[in-house]
Amino acid sequence: MASVTLENVWKRYGKVEAVCGISLDIADKEFMAFLGPSGCGKSSTMRMIAGLEEITSGNIYFDGELMIKVRPRDRNVAMAFETYALYPTLNVYENLAFPLRSSNRSGVDVDKRVREIAGMLEITDLLDRKPTNLSSGQQQLVGLGRALSREPRVFLLDEPISHLDTRQRVRMRAYIKRLHIELGYTMIYVTHNQEEAMALADRVAVMNEGLLSQVGTPEEIFHNPTDTFVAGFVGEPPMNFLECEYRRENGRHLLDHKGTTMEMPSHGEALAQRGAIPPRVTMGIRPFYIDIGLEKSARHVIPAEVFVVEPLGDMTVATVTLLGARLQIVTELGFRARPKQTVWLAFDPTRTLLFDAETGRALIYEA
Ligand code: ADP
Ligand code: MG
Repeated sequence: MASVTLENVWKRYGKVEAVCGISLDIADKEFMAFLGPSGCGKSSTMRMIAGLEEITSGNIYFDGELMIKVRPRDRNVAMAFETYALYPTLNVYENLAFPLRSSNRSGVDVDKRVREIAGMLEITDLLDRKPTNLSSGQQQLVGLGRALSREPRVFLLDEPISHLDTRQRVRMRAYIKRLHIELGYTMIYVTHNQEEAMALADRVAVMNEGLLSQVGTPEEIFHNPTDTFVAGFVGEPPMNFLECEYRRENGRHLLDHKGTTMEMPSHGEALAQRGAIPPRVTMGIRPFYIDIGLEKSARHVIPAEVFVVEPLGDMTVATVTLLGARLQIVTELGFRARPKQTVWLAFDPTRTLLFDAETGRALIYEA
């Protein structure tokens, strides 16, 4: 296994700037996820690490060794992609065995490994089939199996389970995570699925338009997002945002959303005292941290109108409108209310985040 270092890596396709100067250290045996929306440059970055795509500028190192001039097959990376080029004339067994045969293993050894992998992926009953007789989900499993049969320096997975149905995907996710823990591969995993990235990775690198927005543990990304992009991309239902104006009145620091005064979050007071709150602020609060009541109370002071209430079995999601802004709230299972009914909200001041509305950057209080 190896560490992977990206140093100011750029990728341009003609006029398209796909990757705009990424620097990142991935530790030996680490599981790093590249997370971001379609087109943000995840696959381009991955293909440059694999050597399948030329680097426009910058450097890539494995264990401190410069890889730029090293041919793909000499980098010893294993890859599993969203769409697999399986050998069409070979059956599944031979597709899995092929990379093993070229690594000087004995026939018995190869057979054992193929059956082990097939068993793990639960595709043993497909071993005799040709790729054309497989669903796209089954083809993905075979492609994943073929990558797993190697013992590479770095393991690259690009949306490897995106074609599976939800149930299979959640199962495969657990397999991949377990495999990483047991085998200690250095893994780089590309996905646009935030839940997948959070569930699998030691650290998540969130990408947006060719740039790294934030690199951190799933907890850091979730609780301390560096900007509104990361905050809105990670978490389901997504974070709610409210545009507010900052004002001082009789020595108090207030945030107004269209005339409704919001309680200043805990860290906002400290920020305000050192003059670090800009005139326009985006307030961010996750659906779990808003409390909803049918009556006004000492805590429930923000009036909102019910749009709809959805009982989802393991949680109930209430969607409400607050002076034109739409908010989602995860509430208790038994909560029911009619559309247009007035309800009262309480934001948890210890969980409310603030962002500069101009730049989208988080306003962070550092003692
Ligand atoms: P992601 O994997 O995050 O969806 P990609 O790395 O595939 O993103 O693409 C990033 C950007 O580069 C997109 O705008 C895409 O259209 C463009 N792009 C990717 N590959 C090529 C290519 N071979 N030629 C031209 N543009 C490309
Ligand atoms: Mg991609």
